[in-house]
Amino acid sequence: MKLTVSNNINEYYAQTLCLLFFPGSRFSKAEDEPEGSPCADVSALETENGAEATVTLSYGGKSVTKTYTEPVCANLISDAERIAVGKAFFAAGKALLGISPQWGILTGVRPSKIALKELCEGKTKTEVKSSLTKELFVTPKKASLVTDIASIEKKIIAKVPERSCSVYISIPFCPSRCSYCSFVSVASKKLLSITDEYLERLINDVEKCFDTIKKLDLRVLTVYIGGGTPTTLDEKQLARLLDTVNKNVDVSSLEEFTVEAGRPDTVNEEKLRILYQSGVTRVSVNTQTLNDDVLEAIGRRHTAKQFLDAFELAKKSGIKIINTDLIAGLPGEGFGSFSDTVERMIKLMPENLTIHTLCIKSAADYGQQLRGVKASARGEVSKCVDYAQASAKNAGYIPYYIYRQKNTVENLENVGFSLPGTEGLYNIYMMEEIHSIFAVGAGAVSKLVSRDRNKIERVFNFKYPFEYLKEDEERMAERDKKIMDFYEKIY
Ligand code: SF4
Repeated sequence: MKLTVSNNINEYYAQTLCLLFFPGSRFSKAEDEPEGSPCADVSALETENGAEATVTLSYGGKSVTKTYTEPVCANLISDAERIAVGKAFFAAGKALLGISPQWGILTGVRPSKIALKELCEGKTKTEVKSSLTKELFVTPKKASLVTDIASIEKKIIAKVPERSCSVYISIPFCPSRCSYCSFVSVASKKLLSITDEYLERLINDVEKCFDTIKKLDLRVLTVYIGGGTPTTLDEKQLARLLDTVNKNVDVSSLEEFTVEAGRPDTVNEEKLRILYQSGVTRVSVNTQTLNDDVLEAIGRRHTAKQFLDAFELAKKSGIKIINTDLIAGLPGEGFGSFSDTVERMIKLMPENLTIHTLCIKSAADYGQQLRGVKASARGEVSKCVDYAQASAKNAGYIPYYIYRQKNTVENLENVGFSLPGTEGLYNIYMMEEIHSIFAVGAGAVSKLVSRDRNKIERVFNFKYPFEYLKEDEERMAERDKKIMDFYEKIY
C-alpha cells in the first residue's frame, strides 16, 4: 500500500489506521507499488485551537478526501492531531469502503487501558462508555465490553502489592506449525533436536532470573511457561524445568502457575501428573476448532477427539484451572461450524475460555480467508465473535482481559472469559502492564514497569533458539545491567 504522510505525523500510527481498512497491507515507496494498490495521503496542520487533518484514500478507481478538526481539549487521547488524523481516516474509510471499524479510531493492542485509566480516575462506567463512543467512535457494544473488562481488572489490580513481578519462561517448540502462527516457534525435526541443549541453557537462565528477582527484593506473583507448546518437552525434560522453578521460588506462595499445553497431541497423563505435582494451577489445552477438516487444513495434526481426550485428562489431573482457546475466522470455517464448536466447548465448562480472532499475515491471506468462509460476506467473523461472546456470558462466564493485534480479520479482538474467581492473573498483569515481567528463553521480552506504572522498558532476548544458544557473556551482562539500572534509577 502506498502511504504518504506529512512530516510531523507519526508514520507508524498512520500505518495502523490504514490496516483498519486494508488489513495485511505492506507499506512501500510509491514507485514500487503495483497498479491498483490502495493509497493513503495524510496531512495535518496545527490551528489556533487544535489540529486539522486531511486524509485522502484511493482504491478501486475511487478516491475520497475527508478533513477533520479536533480542538485541543480532547479528552481521551491528549494529542489533538492524532485524534484529528484518526477521525479524518475513519470518515474517509467509511465513505470509500462502507466500513466502520467497530473499535473506531482505537488502534492499540490494549483497548482496556483507556477505560481502566478513566475508571481509576473516578469516572463511572456509563461515563467511560460514553467517552469511548463519542470521542473515539467505538461502537456501544465494544465500549460496554471493554468497560466491563476494565472494571473487573480494576478490582484485581487493587490487590497487587508493590515490588511484585511475574516470570515468563519460553519454550518455542511445537509438534507442527499451524498455518496462522505468527509466534517464534519451531517445529522442524532438526530444530526439535536441540531441545536438550536449549533446556540446559534455559535452566541456567531461569536460575539467574530468580537470583536477580531476589536481589531486587521483588515478590513473584505468577509464573507462566508458554511458547510454542511447552508440553512438546518430554516427561523428563518437563520435570527438570518444573523442578528448577520449584527450587527457586516457593510455588505454594504464587497466585498462579500456568503451563501452556496448547497442542492436545503433546499431552498425556504422565505429563499432567508432573505439572500437578509441581504446583501448576492453570493449564491451557487448546483446539481452536472442533471441526476436523478445519484442523487438518490449518496444520494442527490432531483431531477434535484428541482434544476432548486431552481435556478430560486435564480435568482429572487435579489442576485447578483449565483454559481453552478458540479462534474465529479460521480458513474454511463459517458460522455454522464455529457456533457448533462454541456450544460443544461451553458444555465442557473449562474455567477459562479465550476467544480469539484470526490474525492474517498478508493482504493475500485475507482474500483467501474471505473466499474460505464462502459466506464471505463481510461481517461473518464478527457474527462468530458476537455469538461466542454472548454464549459465554449466558453460560456464566465473565470477560476479564482483552487485547487486539494488527491485521485481525474485521479488526476484531481477543477476549479471555472466566468463570468468576478463576481469572488468569498473569494475563491481566501482562496486558495492563501492572508490574515487571521477567522473561527467559528465546523470543522472550522482559518488560520492566516502574512503581507508578508510567515508565516501561523492554529487554529483548534473541529471537530464535539457535541465536539464543550462541549468545555471548557480554550481551547477557548488558541485559542484566539494564535491569539493575532500571530498578536503581527509574523504578
Ligand atoms: S501451537 Fe501456537 S505457537 Fe505452536 S505453531 Fe500453533 S499457533 Fe504457533
